[in-house]
Amino acid sequence: MSLINNLSSTRRVFMMQVATAATAALAVTQASAQTMLDEKDPQAVGLAYKADATKVDKAKNPKYAAGNNCANCALFQAKAGAAAGGCPLFGTKQVSAKGWCSAWVKKG
Ligand code: SF4
Repeated sequence: MSLINNLSSTRRVFMMQVATAATAALAVTQASAQTMLDEKDPQAVGLAYKADATKVDKAKNPKYAAGNNCANCALFQAKAGAAAGGCPLFGTKQVSAKGWCSAWVKKG
């Protein structure tokens, strides 16, 4: 009887470990999917990325025109109306729909 109890208890512990590991893996996936690009990220600095396009230094970025932002950039990867999305220039980090960088290309 105690052997059965032991097996049952071992199985319970195993199932709890599996559940915990699955939850942790999900949390990591969600965290990396939602990591926003930091303006201080070296790649962001190199491309003069601003999370708020209206804060772009127009003197340093003559290419910038009012109204240009990630949401209307050809490289922006998100559903219409999304507040943030992917950009191939910044890997897995998300850029703000209201952001801008010097690689901005008009959406076709
Ligand atoms: Fe935004 Fe386009 Fe620059 Fe990517 S390339 S950060 S979508 S402006």
